Amino acid sequence: MLGVLPKYKQYLLVIKQMKLIGYWITSLRDQVYYPPQEFVLNSPPEWQALVANYLDNGEVFEVYRGSPWCRFSCGYSNSNMGYRDLSDGYFVWPDNLSHYVRDHNVQLPQDFIQHVQSGTPPIPKESWALDRDVTYWQDWCRTHVSDNFRNRLQAALNEANIRAKSIIDKVVLEMETVTGLADSCCIWKGCSNRALDGAVLCARCVIKGNEDHYVWEVYHPAPVLMMPLVRVG
Ligand SMILES: [Zn+2]
Ligand SMILES: [Zn+2]
Repeated sequence: MLGVLPKYKQYLLVIKQMKLIGYWITSLRDQVYYPPQEFVLNSPPEWQALVANYLDNGEVFEVYRGSPWCRFSCGYSNSNMGYRDLSDGYFVWPDNLSHYVRDHNVQLPQDFIQHVQSGTPPIPKESWALDRDVTYWQDWCRTHVSDNFRNRLQAALNEANIRAKSIIDKVVLEMETVTGLADSCCIWKGCSNRALDGAVLCARCVIKGNEDHYVWEVYHPAPVLMMPLVRVG
């Protein structure tokens, strides 16, 4: 019975989700995605060209805001780095993924390479499964990232936590200095700080839940953290 269906329709019977690939670390607190530097291999140029061209020829899955940057800090302009996810109905990838393959020799999962090499035609857009499977790429990254990077990431995160704490302490002190302190205590459950003058909450509780606004920058993964390592396999 399956034999009479076009090949992509046979796949549709089993494909409920498109596999997301090519997402990279955006924050030191990100324990799921990693830098592309961790996945660099010297691949044959014809492999790179084939895969990069395939990636360039995906159809638009989603357009989003934000400014991706090349994690290699290679000078490739952010405006060239894309703002869309592309797909062939089987996989979904950011449109800048071809840059990483073509210009930085980043490798991708073997399944995907075989898929490209197989010449399987894309699934027509109207038949795409709109759900994305993010665990496929996360699992692949987790099993290919080096312990060395994990250790450096953890050390950078610890350091960033210390810096973030000191920034928040400074913000709190400044609020207390500018506004002054009331005689009463903060009404937040379990908090024994003095409230800000004219307020019912202390400075710390006023910014609770909003700390990222002050500290997000300290969690930005520095280029030095992602520096290419000499690594085989
Ligand atoms: Zn680059
Ligand atoms: Zn409080």
